[in-house]
Amino acid sequence: MVDAVTGEPVIGEWEHAAEAADGVGFEQWKSIMAGVRANRLHRGMKRDDERQPPELRTRRYLFSGTLRCGRVNELDEVCRSKLTGNRASGKNAKYGDYYRCQDANCKGVGRRAAAVDEHLVGLLLAVLDRCFTDTEAHTTPWRGREKLAKLRHQHRSVEEAILSGQADWSDVHHLLTALNGRIEALVRDERDHLEAEAKRNLLRGWRRDRWEQLELGEQREVVAQVFDSVVVLPIPAGVSDKAPFDPDLLEVEWRGLSGPLPPRAECRGRP
Ligand SMILES: [Zn+2]
Repeated sequence: MVDAVTGEPVIGEWEHAAEAADGVGFEQWKSIMAGVRANRLHRGMKRDDERQPPELRTRRYLFSGTLRCGRVNELDEVCRSKLTGNRASGKNAKYGDYYRCQDANCKGVGRRAAAVDEHLVGLLLAVLDRCFTDTEAHTTPWRGREKLAKLRHQHRSVEEAILSGQADWSDVHHLLTALNGRIEALVRDERDHLEAEAKRNLLRGWRRDRWEQLELGEQREVVAQVFDSVVVLPIPAGVSDKAPFDPDLLEVEWRGLSGPLPPRAECRGRP
C-alpha cells in the first residue's frame, strides 16, 4: 500500500500511531485489520473459485460444492470431497447432467443432477417458507458511518491547512498517511457489511415466487445459507445404478441445525 498523495509506502506506520495524537492506537488498528484480513481471506477464496477453467466457471450447478461424497475411500475414511457438476456426454448423455466425486483416492459417487436438484430445492423451499416468510427485509446500519465522516473531515482539514500554508507537509504527512489507512479500512468494512446484509436479505421477507427470480449465483448463496452440506451416499450393493433416484441416499446437514426439517421454534434467531 502506498500513500495516495506522496506515493510513499505506508506499511508499518501504524506501530507508531498514538491514541492521543491520532485518535486511534495500535491495538485498535490491529482489531480493525483483523476484520479486514478475514474479509480478504474470504474474498481470496472466491477468487480461487474464479480461477477455475472457463468451462467450469460458466457452467455452474446449484449444489456443486454443497454435495459431499459419502463413500468410504481407499484410506478407509468417509471421503467427504465436494461433488462437482458435470455435463452429460457420449453414451450416458441420455441420463442427463450429473454430480460426481473426482477425488483420486475414491471410486467416487455420482448422482443425476436433475433429480438431486429437484429433491433438495423442495426441502430448501419448505424451510424458507417455514422460517422466513414472516420476517422482514432490512439493512442493519453500518456502525462506522459517523467515524468515517469524521475521519474524512479531518483529512480535508489537514489538506486545507497544507494548501493554505498553515501546516508544513513534513510535519503532517505521517498524520495524513495514518488517516488514509484508517479511511480505506473503514470503506472496506462498510462494503463488506453491505454485502453481508444483502446476502441476508435474500432470505429475509421470503416469498415463494422469489426463488425463480433469483440468478443462479444468488440461488447458490441461498443454498449456502440453509445447507451446511449434503452427503451423497453410494448406491447400496445389489442395487442397479440405473435404479430410480432414492432421496434417502442424501443426508442433509442443515446450517447451524441437526436432523431433519427444523421445528418452527428453531427458526428464530436465524438471519
Ligand atoms: Zn469420494
